[in-house]
Amino acid sequence: MDRDALTIGNEMSSQIIQCPECGGPGGKSYGVWTSPCDECEARSQVPCPECGGPGGYRFGVTTAACEPCATTIIVREAARKRQAEINRWASDLGEKYSQATPDGVPTQLSPALRSEAPRIGMTGPARAGKSCAMACIVLAVPLQRYAWVATTRLRQTSLDARQGEAEERNEARRMLGIWARVPLLCLDDLHQVTYSEAFCEALFELLETRERDGRRTLWTSNRSLAELHGKIARESKDGHRADAICGRLAQDALIIEL
Ligand SMILES: [Zn+2]
Ligand SMILES: [Zn+2]
Repeated sequence: MDRDALTIGNEMSSQIIQCPECGGPGGKSYGVWTSPCDECEARSQVPCPECGGPGGYRFGVTTAACEPCATTIIVREAARKRQAEINRWASDLGEKYSQATPDGVPTQLSPALRSEAPRIGMTGPARAGKSCAMACIVLAVPLQRYAWVATTRLRQTSLDARQGEAEERNEARRMLGIWARVPLLCLDDLHQVTYSEAFCEALFELLETRERDGRRTLWTSNRSLAELHGKIARESKDGHRADAICGRLAQDALIIEL
């Protein structure tokens, strides 16, 4: 189509209406679009509020950026939204670990940050950086699904799932189901709790289900795996149970003892 035909086409498809800005004559309507009269159009063109260059436009009290800046703003806004989403996602780690960085991880634990092992265990004294390392493994893949569970909470939940009031019991079972299925489970401080028979059963079932379904489990303990084994055997009065649990924790695992 040559230029004249296009101009004629546009003129034919627009209708002269009242200017939507000043109410005077000279406004144009193109179906759902309206544009102001030429004088208002000229007044509406302002410097771009982003770059100060030409191409900005004022609509009443708001001012739009020039086209290149508008594109930049869309990209920036998308990045901001994603960052907000990542921050919300990381906040499940708690204030202490949501900002964890590999700088806070001692060099002995750094192989854990690079490992793809289905199970990673880190043992050693409190405040040695184990939980920080575990948080870094979570944060390395933004928005991957995970659950961060203190072993004390796991113990309480597994007891609630057996003995709680109906509502509490259902909620506890729902949580245990989530922890069994979540792609990445972080069990923080396995040495923190007392290993009753009931808790041993719940923990074993959780580990067993996750291993069977090929899901990744990370864990920490303030004592070595051997000491944890001794504690479980002593408290549950069952060496086989301790073997079974520690066997699952160690299977195909990278275990780093500090
Ligand atoms: Zn006007
Ligand atoms: Zn601009």
